[in-house]
Amino acid sequence: MKKFTQVYINGQFITPHGTEVFDLINPTNNQKTGEVVLGDEIDTRAAIAAAKAAFPAFAQTTKAERIAYLEALGEAVSKREEALVQVMVEEYGSSLAFCKMSVGFTINSFRSTINTLKDFDFEKPVGHSKLRLEPVGVVGIITPWNASNGFICHKLATAIAAGCTTVIKPSELSAGQTQLIMECFHEAGIPAGVINIVNGLGGVVGAEITRHPDVAKISFTGSTAVGKMIAKSAVDTMKRVTLELGGKSPNIILDDADFATVIPQAVFGAYMNNGQACIAPTRLLVPADRLQEVNNIAAAAAAQVKVGNPMDESTNVGPMVNQKQYQRVQDYIRLGQSEGATLLAGGEGKPEGLEAGNFVKATIFTNVRNDMRIAQEEIFGPVLSIIPYHSEEEAIAIANDTTYGLAAYISSADQQRAERVASRIAAGRICINKFTHDPAAPFGGFKQSGIGREYGVYGLEAYLEPKAILG
Ligand code: NAD
Repeated sequence: MKKFTQVYINGQFITPHGTEVFDLINPTNNQKTGEVVLGDEIDTRAAIAAAKAAFPAFAQTTKAERIAYLEALGEAVSKREEALVQVMVEEYGSSLAFCKMSVGFTINSFRSTINTLKDFDFEKPVGHSKLRLEPVGVVGIITPWNASNGFICHKLATAIAAGCTTVIKPSELSAGQTQLIMECFHEAGIPAGVINIVNGLGGVVGAEITRHPDVAKISFTGSTAVGKMIAKSAVDTMKRVTLELGGKSPNIILDDADFATVIPQAVFGAYMNNGQACIAPTRLLVPADRLQEVNNIAAAAAAQVKVGNPMDESTNVGPMVNQKQYQRVQDYIRLGQSEGATLLAGGEGKPEGLEAGNFVKATIFTNVRNDMRIAQEEIFGPVLSIIPYHSEEEAIAIANDTTYGLAAYISSADQQRAERVASRIAAGRICINKFTHDPAAPFGGFKQSGIGREYGVYGLEAYLEPKAILG
């Protein structure tokens, strides 16, 4: 049984004032694997005070010093790569293959931030004046469970590049990853107070960070519902906010695409990270006159999806993070049937032999109408909706008919045609013909998928205040 009993404040591992204990459950078998002691408001205030005290000196560090800190952090995290992958799989059940890729991105976030920082000018002319870009202050970093170490590392890397100090509140479901990350950060030898980490509940530690007057900015990744609460509370102290929220991303298959390639890719893509991915392409838009062909290919692809033990190299889809998430996905599968969508693959219940964990069958609905709730709401599980369209115009209209706007995907044999369609889609990131990532390109959502951008120059600028010096 693992016990996580410390928080990290002012360069030290300390026993928190908070005493509430939260059980850690392995989603593959629902066995208890450990406990974490949660911090409270008093711990949070101590962390904020440490970050505030460290800020004046850290804000004055040079670019070269910040690059050296980022290098040390990247090195410390990369030494624990294997352990991070293992704990990530155990803690929330994503497949080994996905976790390896995700931890690779985590480590690379320090290198890509260094690349951005190297070419970034903190002082430049504007008009006949001088512009200085100054670190915003203490940053509160609040992250979800679905790629915990990655979110923490890229947000922290950006804060360090900007010269900001931080208070980090990871998801309470990610205590094992948090412990490892804390040890890495400590080993990297960053000045005391620059990084503070408090385990705790959102409504306690997260809420205190959000309302505290000494926190200048919140960088949040999580659900749209919580993002709205944070934005409302943050405005009282006029905090800057970067909100990375939910999505219901369209995947438009144009009629000239190679269906035999792109439809299986679309099915496997929708199930990335067990379907628990904000950017998952969960609405598959296909030409209505080829629906039968699409259904045949998609059903065959779903039959190839291996749901099972996430530690197994060949597994595509592991269990949902907890029983609550499993129930939520089941509710949506029932809802899809009652709304009149046609169940093409999967369905309610657990796959045979996997009854002990939170496993969901790889599920596809077809003949889905975009106004159905399964097409409008974020399910966060391996459930794909196939939606037929009658013209390119209608495909664009359906793609945009959502409150979200995080990502979109387009497949076509004609790059220019795909880019023309991309120019009309309201989403922050659009992938053409493949699922890919670019850490230099901005990431973030239109509409209710968020506010602001992360990564690259746009991400760094979000941690800086422009100051114009005239005369
Ligand atoms: P969540 O919103 O429930 O929780 C996210 C974090 O916020 C957790 O640390 C939680 O403890 C904290 N929190 C909860 N209530 C709070 C409050 N009142 N004040 C401050 N903090 C609070 O999300 P989750 O279930 O952990 O993650 C899944 C969600 O995250 C999905 O909606 C998904 O789309 C979204 N997400 C978005 C992105 C993106 O980059 N846009 C990436 C990954 C996940």
